[in-house]
Amino acid sequence: MSDSPLVSSYLCRDCGSELGFRSRRRNFAERYLLPLLLLKPVRCGECFRRDYRLIFTPVRERMPDLEKITSGRQTDTSRRNVA
Ligand SMILES: [Zn+2]
Repeated sequence: MSDSPLVSSYLCRDCGSELGFRSRRRNFAERYLLPLLLLKPVRCGECFRRDYRLIFTPVRERMPDLEKITSGRQTDTSRRNVA
């Protein structure tokens, strides 16, 4: 579908999952510097790793529950299998 080098689908560096979700911008750098670099915060839907991707990278809308869980404590939910 997409042959542009700018548009590559999300792929988690940790677990290799292609399930990425938009993540909230948490601080000054993420809010104002990332856009300048054409980056945005993305969270892996499988292992919850937080990473930056090009803003062109297609990801799902954020999952509010997930953000709430992972922003506080990192518990066993991080290994839940999302089939
Ligand atoms: Zn992952």
